[in-house]
Amino acid sequence: MKTAFVDGRVFVGNGTIMEHATVIVEDSRIIDIQNTAQGLSQEFHQIPIGNDTLFPGFIDCHVHLTMDGSPDPIGTLASETLPITTIKGVQNAQKTLAAGITTVRDLGGKDGIDLGLRLAIESGLINGPRVLASGRLICMTGGHGWPIGREADGPDEVRRAAREQIKAGADQVKFMATGGVLTASVEPGCAQLTYEEMKAGIEEAHKAGKRTATHAMGSHGILAALHAGIDSIEHGIYLTDEIISFMKEHQVYYIPTIAALYHIANRGVAAGIPAWAVKKNNIVAPFHKESIKKAHAAGVTIAMGTDAGTPFNYHGKNLLEISLLVAHGLSPTEALVAATGTASYVLGMEDKIGTVEPGKIADLVLVKDNPLDDIDILYNQDAIVRVMKNGIFV
Ligand SMILES: [Zn+2]
Repeated sequence: MKTAFVDGRVFVGNGTIMEHATVIVEDSRIIDIQNTAQGLSQEFHQIPIGNDTLFPGFIDCHVHLTMDGSPDPIGTLASETLPITTIKGVQNAQKTLAAGITTVRDLGGKDGIDLGLRLAIESGLINGPRVLASGRLICMTGGHGWPIGREADGPDEVRRAAREQIKAGADQVKFMATGGVLTASVEPGCAQLTYEEMKAGIEEAHKAGKRTATHAMGSHGILAALHAGIDSIEHGIYLTDEIISFMKEHQVYYIPTIAALYHIANRGVAAGIPAWAVKKNNIVAPFHKESIKKAHAAGVTIAMGTDAGTPFNYHGKNLLEISLLVAHGLSPTEALVAATGTASYVLGMEDKIGTVEPGKIADLVLVKDNPLDDIDILYNQDAIVRVMKNGIFV
């Protein structure tokens, strides 16, 4: 089957914008980009780009498909039954894909549901984005995320916990370096898994060819994770100059997940979010803002992740994060690259997805008008005209 997106604006995903481009897709691959629409034979299913803009499929580097965006999602997960969580996960995957996100990295599921969703999507059983699953996140006993995590103490046990996730089929391993907002009785600024513990776990992941990510808010925990060899810092509330220069020097990615904090601050206790979570969120938010601005100015590589599934941070509304990145100092082009080309590097999939280039998988999203003129239109579901994943229209 051959499809051609004909004569229009193409956001390549590496910062380049092409005009009057025609993108040719055969089966699951992009095979050519031409600067003429002439000579296209009848065998092509032709889609005029018109006044719209063609993007590579968007990539969200941080979601939780099993979390439903309820006011206390960890509490919900701990109390609801497995079948209900699974069905919600299926719906969340469908909503995500419909919004133009063709690949997600799930950074912590429950009871292997994330791994099951990945398989169900790969085998065509259900519709959804390409999923890179983590299995259970690894935390210290009573650490952030423990109700859904694999609690582990001491380097040997963390090593074993990492091996367990890899054995179960995890694409990457997630660690919890500090406390956080959505678990009662932990503090975002406090270190949790130690340097020695993370070093052992990260070593196991890297031996197996897997990347690692860490929930990391406070400076001590971030530094411990960085020295232990972590590949990406998630949230990153309290970034110091030392942290920023380490991240730059060692090419560690920064995924600020602004939407997670934004929705908690906006909705607050009145919407049913636990008071302890709102209180912690409001304390850390200004530091987060400063850290993002400093990291961006210093040239740290920022990628898009939403933490979708946290309170009111609904699956399918992921592209709000692009507007929030712009509000924190990125240019619209930089923010869109953070959600495409750069995100593909975070996942180690830069040879397959992230840009509109010959040889890449045909993940393509046709967006109404030009989001570079009005970045906020992306958040509106009506802006997503067509979504193609693996060469097939959703
Ligand atoms: Zn998360």
